[in-house]
Amino acid sequence: MSERLKALESLPLRDNLRGKVPYGAPQVSVPYALNVNENTHPLPPSVVEAIVARVTEAAHGLNRYPDRDAVQLRAALASYLTERAEVELSEDEVWAANGSNEILQQILQAFGGPGRTLLSFGPTYSMYPLLAAGTDTIFASGEREADFTLTAESVTRQITLHQPNIVFLASPNNPTATALDAEVIEAAYAAGEQFSSMIVVDEAYAEFARDQSASALALLSGRPRLIVTRTMSKAFGLAGARLGYLAASPAVVDALQLVRLPYHLSAVTQAVALAALEHTDLLLGTVDDIRGQRDRIVAELAKLGFGVHASDANFVFFDGVRDSAALFQALLDRGILIRDVGIPGTLRVTAGTAEETGAFLDAMRDLAPQHLAAAPQAHTLSLPTL
Ligand SMILES: *Cc1c(COP(=O)(O)O)cnc(C)c1O
Repeated sequence: MSERLKALESLPLRDNLRGKVPYGAPQVSVPYALNVNENTHPLPPSVVEAIVARVTEAAHGLNRYPDRDAVQLRAALASYLTERAEVELSEDEVWAANGSNEILQQILQAFGGPGRTLLSFGPTYSMYPLLAAGTDTIFASGEREADFTLTAESVTRQITLHQPNIVFLASPNNPTATALDAEVIEAAYAAGEQFSSMIVVDEAYAEFARDQSASALALLSGRPRLIVTRTMSKAFGLAGARLGYLAASPAVVDALQLVRLPYHLSAVTQAVALAALEHTDLLLGTVDDIRGQRDRIVAELAKLGFGVHASDANFVFFDGVRDSAALFQALLDRGILIRDVGIPGTLRVTAGTAEETGAFLDAMRDLAPQHLAAAPQAHTLSLPTL
């Protein structure tokens, strides 16, 4: 054990944090960073200008605390969702925080905690168990089918078994990229009814979905314990701004106000997000291109012989890799950083610009003969129709 680790172990750390490792996707400088599902397109210069103007205005008022309830921003987010998803939402039904990770943390602070259980279905977003540990919430690790999909029947069975206080459903799921059918979410909500489970649908990648009508936002009406979380980190290309939000019943928003830190959203963050929301068309102008690059990766990797999972996100999950760590390293040696999510035989890659995607696919064409698994993987999916 290193000296540093020994020093950590000697601190009176909470038991459920002992031995844990922090979230740590590598942050290294490479020509092609395709590992954390950012929108790799630079922001349009006119949007940058609008952000600077709004931040300048906000800077004059930085001697004062920001609007604690971020009402203007929540109204702008509500309009965005109302226009995009064609569901009527007001600011009372929207809440914002520093990234959807903070939203998820607040949900756990309000509805989880000691003796309470969060159920999620692995493989899924690696932050869920960490957020559970941080709030002393029991993490129940549910299962998926062999092809990593989730069915209404299996979700119902596992919710009935674990009787969770909270359920996290990522749709599309990270790292496996496929969105959930509405019937799975409806089934989860119905199964959780008897335990008053909060059902949280993490739609971080919703804007990239093949079927835009599939959002769980359409299910909110009449379901007071359903929460849909969204973020500006992915499609909006604002990962650095840290702005996540949710849509839910006003009572859920009231509950989260009990645990949020006072003035948790800085005036600068609110200004950046407001400026961005005034230019959604421009900002989301790259989404179609990214979807195209994603579909190109799906088609090309399949042609090379890899097993490719249907993707509703801005990343692609593939299997049929002989040795994930070896292929990851071979790509990194060529300046291309993708993600080894720790599932043997698989890797995940973000769809970047046409040029970045081309560089990745060129490298894969070279590397495939050496790095393809000998036999097809048992869980290789049939290809999506493109
Ligand atoms: C990227 C991602 C998020 C976004 O987190 P932010 O804190 O909003 O940047 C949330 N959920 C999943 C599943 C993700 O992959």
